[in-house]
Amino acid sequence: MSITPASVIRADVIAQKAYQVHDSTGCIKMDANENPHPLPESLRQALAEKLAAVELNRYPDGAASQLKARLKQHLGLSDQYDILFGNGSDECIALLIQAIAGDGVKVMALEPTFVVYGIAARAQRLDYIGVELNADFSVNVERTLAAIQEHQPKLLFITPPNNPTGNIISAEDVSRLIRATPGLVVIDEAYEAFASHRLLHLLDEHQNLLIMRTFSKIGGAGLRLGYLVGRPEWLVELDKLRMPYNINTLTQVAAEFMLDHYDAIQAQVDEVVTARDNLIDKLRQFKELTVYPSQANMFVVRCPRVQALHAYLRERKILVRQAYNWHPLLENCIRISTGTDAENAVLLAAISDFFAS
Ligand code: PMP
Repeated sequence: MSITPASVIRADVIAQKAYQVHDSTGCIKMDANENPHPLPESLRQALAEKLAAVELNRYPDGAASQLKARLKQHLGLSDQYDILFGNGSDECIALLIQAIAGDGVKVMALEPTFVVYGIAARAQRLDYIGVELNADFSVNVERTLAAIQEHQPKLLFITPPNNPTGNIISAEDVSRLIRATPGLVVIDEAYEAFASHRLLHLLDEHQNLLIMRTFSKIGGAGLRLGYLVGRPEWLVELDKLRMPYNINTLTQVAAEFMLDHYDAIQAQVDEVVTARDNLIDKLRQFKELTVYPSQANMFVVRCPRVQALHAYLRERKILVRQAYNWHPLLENCIRISTGTDAENAVLLAAISDFFAS
């Protein structure tokens, strides 16, 4: 008998489709919620020198101690909290889910939202419960409280601002959800840099809370660095499942460099926020489009001929993210990540041509 993947690998894995990342060579990338601005030229040489001094023949510092100390200082974190790094916050999500996996365990998130929560939960054969947002994408607090009561999740992800919808939740509402949850709540603040408020301070109020963030949206997507912040009593348990050298030395050095030059990063973030608001205003002038407000660096646009528009933009080498197959609330929707002013102008011209054709 021949040994095949199907005879060895779990049937539910064989039945799955892998997460798709499309080739973007030569395209304007408005599909992955990245910072459209590269590191300023003036800083690149200084970073190159730091990276050149790295001893690639040695394993990284497994605890990333120097970076951790620098980040704690940057966040103004008090000594009662610690940080756990992941290879992207994707890895933090996987660690959280591995740590709770077991028969009948439920993971909950507020849908539509970031797909990796569901992917990671299914990889561990956990029940994934998606509680629907309101039609305007705000969190339906009463519906979520009822779902928490019914399903008793061990892990709840709340994502302010949410991907793809860009909506945020108030500290009061999120606290109600945290208090009702019989497990751990993770506030995924991947997009906090672009938002009107942050929720890190809620750690002081809730024992069953961790905050998750990432370098990916502020200019470090290529580094693959995310992290959890919270009480050491939670993080020491997750640390037992973390692979020993998950954060490579180049990433540790480059991330520290970003923190040392955060004024340049902050200037880019501010530029993205202004560009986002301008782009949303201009897109709202097309009567065919419904453009949703956003506190993130991306936003959702609804359009009656969405598949044709999506294909048209792709032909013009502008990549935006299809959201129309993602969730019923996102019918006829695409998600657009804010680009540079020049990229946004190209997008607007293409959309104008589309409606004129
Ligand atoms: N959380 C949310 C809400 C996201 O949108 C993303 C990236 N798309 C992530 C986490 C993962 O980020 P990272 O690049 O750090 O793995």
